[in-house]
Amino acid sequence: MLIDTHCHIHESDYPVDIDVVIEHAQKAMVKKIICVGTNVEDSCLALELAKKHDGIFASIGVHPHYANKSLDEFLDFAKTVEFNKKTIAIGEIGLDYHYPDSPSPEEQFLLLKQQIELALEHNLPIIFHVREAYDDFWKVLDSIKSDKPIRGVLHSFTDSIENMQEGIRRGFYISINGISTFTHDKLQKQMYNSIPLDRLLLETDAPWLTPYPLRGKVKVNEPAFVKEVAEYISKSRDVSFEEISKATTANARNLFKL
Ligand SMILES: [Zn+2]
Repeated sequence: MLIDTHCHIHESDYPVDIDVVIEHAQKAMVKKIICVGTNVEDSCLALELAKKHDGIFASIGVHPHYANKSLDEFLDFAKTVEFNKKTIAIGEIGLDYHYPDSPSPEEQFLLLKQQIELALEHNLPIIFHVREAYDDFWKVLDSIKSDKPIRGVLHSFTDSIENMQEGIRRGFYISINGISTFTHDKLQKQMYNSIPLDRLLLETDAPWLTPYPLRGKVKVNEPAFVKEVAEYISKSRDVSFEEISKATTANARNLFKL
């Protein structure tokens, strides 16, 4: 069995009917799916979908793109949420310096810190989104004063081997998706192959990042296609598909208590 630890199929414009998505996922042995919120409204949609379907789970959070407007709204909303077997994490949260019109680093730091504190308060794992911002990200983590460890995953990881290893040193999981199947960047490929198996998670980030060989052949990515990511990594590491699926499923269960 496989677990898609990160997708956005709850979004209102996701073009495939949910029953079809679930049927495809089951055929591909993808038995659990985590829907990840990016703002308050979107987190609500993730919660609703998780409530309706057995194998679907929700994570709530505000993506750094919304850092300049959503903090108070989110903290109020979070007070109304009951964290339970279906509402399992805080995320996706983090830092993103990719787009020039993003909220300022200071606004992003504040939002990130408050949400990490919320996760610590509820003993929840965190789904981190960090893009072109790892130096500042480690500093923000170091600035948090807590006796509890910050547990989580660095989602859609594409950064350097050094930052991957720093993530491992801090006890994080590293999650990879379709990018690992179609990148031509040699260093990135090397990095993907050197993630320790006991720290590796799989995701689709659907509707984006359809993996090879389906890329360009299907209209949109689906949780079922996490199987293609697993197959690709199994070939590139010369490790059996069973070993990859067993390890990544155990890791996801361990982090998210699925
Ligand atoms: Zn995402």
